[in-house]
Amino acid sequence: MTKSAKRWVGFICLLMWSMVLWAFLTFSAPSLEGYWLDLSVMLLLMLVVSLFPIQVRGTNISLIQGISLAIFLHFGLLVELIMVQLTILVSLWYLKYPLYRYGTSSLMFMVVSSSSALVYYLLGGEVGGLAANEYPQIIPVIGYAITGLVINNVILHLLKRNFYKEGGVLFAKDFLWEVLMEAAILPISITFYILYSQLGTSAILFVGIPFVIVSLIMNMYHSSQKINHLLKSTNKIGQELTESLLVDETMDIFLQRITKMLKVDIAYILDVKGQSKLKIIRKFESDQMNHVDQLFVSKGQGISGKVWESGQSLRFEGQHQWRKYANGFLPVDAESVVSVPMIRNQEVVGVITLASRRKMAYEKPHLMILEILSNYLAVAVDKAKNYEMTKQKSERCHLTNLYNYRYFEDKLYEMYKHYTTSTNPFSLILLDIDHFKNVNDRYGHQSGNAVLCQIAERLIEIIGAQGTVARYGGEEFVILLPDCVQFESLGLAELVRDEISRTEFSISNDLDNFHKEKISLTVSIGVATAPVQGEDPLSLIRNADRAMYTGAKQQGRNKVAIYQ
Ligand code: GH3
Ligand code: MG
Ligand code: MG
Repeated sequence: MTKSAKRWVGFICLLMWSMVLWAFLTFSAPSLEGYWLDLSVMLLLMLVVSLFPIQVRGTNISLIQGISLAIFLHFGLLVELIMVQLTILVSLWYLKYPLYRYGTSSLMFMVVSSSSALVYYLLGGEVGGLAANEYPQIIPVIGYAITGLVINNVILHLLKRNFYKEGGVLFAKDFLWEVLMEAAILPISITFYILYSQLGTSAILFVGIPFVIVSLIMNMYHSSQKINHLLKSTNKIGQELTESLLVDETMDIFLQRITKMLKVDIAYILDVKGQSKLKIIRKFESDQMNHVDQLFVSKGQGISGKVWESGQSLRFEGQHQWRKYANGFLPVDAESVVSVPMIRNQEVVGVITLASRRKMAYEKPHLMILEILSNYLAVAVDKAKNYEMTKQKSERCHLTNLYNYRYFEDKLYEMYKHYTTSTNPFSLILLDIDHFKNVNDRYGHQSGNAVLCQIAERLIEIIGAQGTVARYGGEEFVILLPDCVQFESLGLAELVRDEISRTEFSISNDLDNFHKEKISLTVSIGVATAPVQGEDPLSLIRNADRAMYTGAKQQGRNKVAIYQ
């Protein structure tokens, strides 16, 4: 909502308020002699009902109408207006809503009260206490209720769309709930009115108070239902998290689920890095927020830093509560914030921080659920890390970090398995360093190792995403090239041979005081293309090997040969 719009709302609100007050004092107040105590008790009941609303799919449904309708029927529009206004004033203050929200709500209820009353009068309804055998006029009452419902929904929808930018559809599913509620409340309200006309104050005891108690019970029931529902989803998410075996995927699942479950505009997963820094390793940002480009948080700094330091969660309902901790890390338009530590083996291994543009988006049960899930996440990420590490170890060569023979063999078998006549041919390059034994003999085994590593790096640089480079064993390497016909693989092999022959490898001679030297090497290469030069994995390897020995090594080395 813009500043000038807020100012206008405030102005109109004040104007209307003064008019209503003036009219009330002039017309209604004098006739309320003897009713002040009853009205105060009714106001109290309305307050209780509005402070414990029933939540249906995220919208609060308040049952104040149960009492306010009776007040309207008995005392007329002005009294009802003032009572409803006082109720929303107190409850919005209690719920810590910003002032302008009060303005819009106040105006909205004014419009709702007045238009419902207008329809009531137009349909021939009259207000005032009922005589002994008199009944209320049903048609005008129904008109009153329907008008209230419709106007309320239309205004809320317009407010949400134009001012709060929240979207949503007019008369959504919740509307049906409201209609049902209204249908249930209306008879109670009318009974209250009739009884109050006849019995006076004791009607509050017979109908007013029981009505409020029932609405409180419904509120509690709804809360426990909500928590039940939250716990069920938590359980499901926890399971999903522990099922995932990849670190990034685990964190993505967490963010996806938590942002659906709670009201989240910004979510960060922060990882403890060393002794003093937290690093954002994953984040979710809705496009409604001003994003902040900051990657690190120091220990004890800002909300996340404090949570890390203390190991205790923090929950804030609005910006005024956390502004003093802020370190410029959260967007300026964030209001509600929760931040929880990720704990594993009694140690904080990370922090999860969520924020929303709404005030009071996170209640205590939400915090509890987030704490449970953050610990699930800590364990799941740890498990995934271990899995990734073990996998990496099992498929990589320890020295060069290239894929090992096992991985290469699996991959080659897979390629044969998936090969069909419509697939393109694929090729294999087998490479053996020439006279490598001499390197070991002259410069020592360590130098030999260093050369193997540098050749591995060179091969990765040359091949890139075109294929898979693996260490075949000893001083031999293989390159698997999917979707690569013979002349292409020959070209690539020639490039590799040429590049390596021109590369200077740095070693520190471990046989000569680690004296730094540069040495040159050559390689012999054999190439075979599947399926023509090998019907199965083993024959393809054998044929590439044969090509290398007979066509390259035996022909003087530093050559590329193809299986004939
Ligand atoms: P050729 O040109 O005929 O291939 O001669 P070569 O000396 O390269 O071949 P040979 O098979 O006789 O020797 C290979 C040498 O590679 C023997 C072995 O010590 C060395 N080697 C194998 N694996 C490693 C390793 O991991 N590190 C080091 N430093 N040397 C290795
Ligand atoms: Mg060899
Ligand atoms: Mg060799």
